[in-house]
Amino acid sequence: MKTVLIGLGQAGGKVTTELVQFDARMGFDAVTGALAINSAKADLQPLPLDTVLVGQDRVNGHGVGGDNELGAEVMQADAREVMSALDGSITAEAEAIVLVAGLGGGTGSGGTPVLAKELKRIYDVPVYVLGVLPAEGEGAMYQVNAGRSLKTAAREADSVLLVDNDAWRASGESMEEGYDAINKAIAKRVGLLLASGEAVEGVGESVVDSSEIINTLRSGGISALGYASAEAAPDAEDNINTVMSTARRALLTGTSLPDATTADSALVVVAADGERIPRKGVERTRRWVEEETGSLQVRGGDFPLGSERIATLVLLGGVERSDRVQRFMQRAKEAQEAEETKDERPDPVSAFDNDEIDSLL
Ligand code: GDP
Repeated sequence: MKTVLIGLGQAGGKVTTELVQFDARMGFDAVTGALAINSAKADLQPLPLDTVLVGQDRVNGHGVGGDNELGAEVMQADAREVMSALDGSITAEAEAIVLVAGLGGGTGSGGTPVLAKELKRIYDVPVYVLGVLPAEGEGAMYQVNAGRSLKTAAREADSVLLVDNDAWRASGESMEEGYDAINKAIAKRVGLLLASGEAVEGVGESVVDSSEIINTLRSGGISALGYASAEAAPDAEDNINTVMSTARRALLTGTSLPDATTADSALVVVAADGERIPRKGVERTRRWVEEETGSLQVRGGDFPLGSERIATLVLLGGVERSDRVQRFMQRAKEAQEAEETKDERPDPVSAFDNDEIDSLL
């Protein structure tokens, strides 16, 4: 899927850089343009990307300090400048635009829903958000910011692909090393997904194409991505169980959003050397994912590439009703309530479905 990436805020810029580098290293060519946007000049400087500094008149390049309302305001105020900077990157070949951000901060959290709305007004291609959820141990401000940003982004964008910062974290690392590993994990998984619609080898009926990704995400709301890999035998017939077991791990333990298995739709992508991919295994896995997610809209396909390993991706669309998302919204709501009690502002607040988290826009 030919994709234009827009990284917003510090996490957004770093994850976008990893995605660009992964796509180039693998020679996929799925990323056709990339841009980073921030209100903090120092966070833009190290990035090997085209950049746009927003909110200069309000914060003078110093960032919005975790205030996502201010993040939304500066993006709105500079929307015209941002859209014109993007104009050259979003060419006719683009099949999707992906906004990348940490939802718990300020610039990315506030700016993402605003920019999604602006982009939707102008472009016909889907606008997705790749959003990072704060880990459970991060402070209340991060949870509140993420709750409001997620609620608003899910409304404005075509789908919000969520990565929980607790999901792909390796233990025993410093915060910075931790982020680095998570960002690389995100780049590999999302990078493979985007590239899966780009396969050139063995083009045929069973090969995934971009429209299947787009259709899987068509139900809107929130989505999640699972990944697992294993050694593959040279003979496709011998890999049926491997495809099944990697899919099981992808969905149950290798997912970007743990415990989110109730979904409206799904796409299973099996990536490996084409000769090693068992058609029967893909079909059996597809049926298993149907049972596991309770969805009748489960697509499946191959992604032939020159690898002796089998990597299985499971993309889930419409996971917002899953316990996991409900639990996060509850956490955000409680954090918001606690902040409001502290401020002696007893405004009524509530959860995702029933308008209890305040919308940003
Ligand atoms: P902004 O620059 O104001 O948009 O804020 P950040 O991008 O720093 O967003 C803060 C949130 O993103 C927090 O929940 C952090 O845990 C998370 N975060 C910050 N940097 C990274 C990163 O490099 N990788 C990941 N996965 N999360 C990050």
